[in-house]
Amino acid sequence: MESDAIRWVDIGGERNVATINLVRGNNVYGEKLVRYGGEEYRVWDPFRSKLAAAMKKGLKEMPIKNGTKVLYLGASTGTTVSHVSDIIGTSGIVFAVEPATRVARELIENVASKRSNVMPILEDARKPQSYFSVFGKVDVIYCDIAQPDQTGIAIGNCRAYLKPAGKLLLVVKTRSIDVTMDPKAVVAQESKKLQQAGFTIDQTINLEPFDKDHSLISATYNADKS
Ligand code: SAM
Repeated sequence: MESDAIRWVDIGGERNVATINLVRGNNVYGEKLVRYGGEEYRVWDPFRSKLAAAMKKGLKEMPIKNGTKVLYLGASTGTTVSHVSDIIGTSGIVFAVEPATRVARELIENVASKRSNVMPILEDARKPQSYFSVFGKVDVIYCDIAQPDQTGIAIGNCRAYLKPAGKLLLVVKTRSIDVTMDPKAVVAQESKKLQQAGFTIDQTINLEPFDKDHSLISATYNADKS
């Protein structure tokens, strides 16, 4: 799963994923900068980013590539958004939705102001109709909002903005959904909701040891069955 924008690098005997740095010399959250083939890469910390954790745990298909249009729900300060921005490059765009003003300020100052392919949207993902800056449909929706109704919120956003056959990457925080249920049963329950809404489940990845009680579901949107 290597491309020019994504490389596996060896750091202290450990294989880590890294993304080409769109803003040379700049790091976003204290990550290491390394040189490879004349390019500068940012080492992507799997303990700080669930998408990096999913790659370390064997994500088979990375739907975010050069030129991809992404709708990102739960952008926070932009740790993962910044790596998505590296991968999509200047021909892609990431719409980064985050309603909490304190973290959104960091997203704007540290990430969006330096990266023209990051469009911050200070809105609640429960109201996709309020994202006035999203134009057209997107190729990928990434959702990491740690809410009990996150699967329903992700589905609502897919119906509004995802292209037919587009990909959904959904982070499931099992404890946010039901602390009493077996985490595997929670993931199965959320997968079923997606299937009932017309998605095909491509892969489910348990993110331990990088994130306790978290899984990532990768799914394809069959818009005609939705
Ligand atoms: N994805 C981020 C990363 O990897 O850098 C971390 C996301 S953090 C676990 C969850 C974020 O979701 C928080 O910043 C929170 O404010 C945001 N969030 C919670 N509810 C939301 C909602 N209804 N709509 C959009 N974002 C929401």
